[in-house]
Amino acid sequence: MMKRRICILGSTGSIGTQALQVIEEHEDLFEAYVLTAGSNAGLLIRQARRFLPCAVVIADESKYSEVREALSDMPIQVYAGSEALCQVVAMEPVDMVLTALVGFSGLRPTIAAIRARKPIALANKETLVVAGELVTALCRKHDVPLLPVDSEHSAIFQSLMGEESPIEKIILTASGGPFRTFSSDDMRNVTAAQALKHPNWDMGAKITIDSASMMNKGFEVIEAKWLFDVDADRIQVVVHPQSIVHSAVQFSDGAVKAQLGAPDMRVPIQLAMSYPVRLASSFPRIDWWDMQALTFERPDMNRFPCLEMAYEAIRLGGNAPCVVNAANEVVNLAFRQGQCGFLQMADVISECLARIEHIDTPVLEDYLETDRLTRAAASELIKLSL
Ligand code: NDP
Ligand code: MG
Repeated sequence: MMKRRICILGSTGSIGTQALQVIEEHEDLFEAYVLTAGSNAGLLIRQARRFLPCAVVIADESKYSEVREALSDMPIQVYAGSEALCQVVAMEPVDMVLTALVGFSGLRPTIAAIRARKPIALANKETLVVAGELVTALCRKHDVPLLPVDSEHSAIFQSLMGEESPIEKIILTASGGPFRTFSSDDMRNVTAAQALKHPNWDMGAKITIDSASMMNKGFEVIEAKWLFDVDADRIQVVVHPQSIVHSAVQFSDGAVKAQLGAPDMRVPIQLAMSYPVRLASSFPRIDWWDMQALTFERPDMNRFPCLEMAYEAIRLGGNAPCVVNAANEVVNLAFRQGQCGFLQMADVISECLARIEHIDTPVLEDYLETDRLTRAAASELIKLSL
């Protein structure tokens, strides 16, 4: 494998820092060529001093001089602002872009990277939730690979290696999150602190809340639809609390292929970065003698209406998933800040879906506008209920 120069969008986050651990394991094969952060200047500076990238971006422009001064003794270009994200992805030496930003903010830099014909290691699933049709069409047009980082999608991708036969069904596993066994009544008064304690995965705050509401699994259904070109009614969510079976594919002869492993995001991150090669790693292995029973349950759409809403949005198509994503970003943050109840999140999203005008075949401008209008509507709805 030739050395790959990676641009990590969101290097200070959960996925970004784990990607840097992968690079540390294989410094002969990977180079952190660009690192970017939202506002965590301190960590970005430490990462830059350790990994010596060619360029760094701090999206929060008020932190620009802090970063520039801290790195002034080093040959590192320092940029600020979200426009800069769209420029660094296209730098000539970059071989791959890992999109580990959170939320809608990943859309425009990802599109810029695809237009610059950079292979994408995709962690930022919201990009496909919001504009999966546009993004996958652009990848086909520019012949750009979209390599999944999300553990379930990596498992599906791995199950499809060497297969040319059609997919009958995708089995998308879900841990069920911290409230898997809670009744709706129990969930009414849960706090952000409770929701932030995920049983199996240590992730960023936004996706951890999405996992608790199962919105995350709904988004993953949409993500799988676009990545693997399979309709949502052939994507079956199965709750598997141990998170050992990362997902599976069923073929037309009834055979099912799954990928298993210890829950550790560095494995799918590394595979996306090294594909088609598998590299050795020191990450934890399954201990078969110590393994608990593997169990499987039907998801309860009544207790987890966000999952149902994602299916509904993808059935509606057009800008509907973009509405759900934008409303969810607003309620997710409001819940973390104690301004929105756990069950109220689904109500606000549902109300936004009813209110925002449907656009059947949106272009990029429509997505930007839908995102803006939905955020305003969701904020208004939360304010009214306070
Ligand atoms: P984190 O919140 O931990 O990290 C997000 C990163 O993006 C940080 O570097 C953050 O910078 C940066 N960022 C946030 N907002 C902006 C913005 N507006 N402009 C520029 N940069 C921004 O998230 P995760 O790493 O958990 O998740 C990243 C993506 O990967 C998400 O889409 C998530 O769904 C997906 N994913 C994550 C998994 C996980 O295990 N964490 C598993 C599967 C998918 P700063 O630190 O300065 O705020
Ligand atoms: Mg996942």
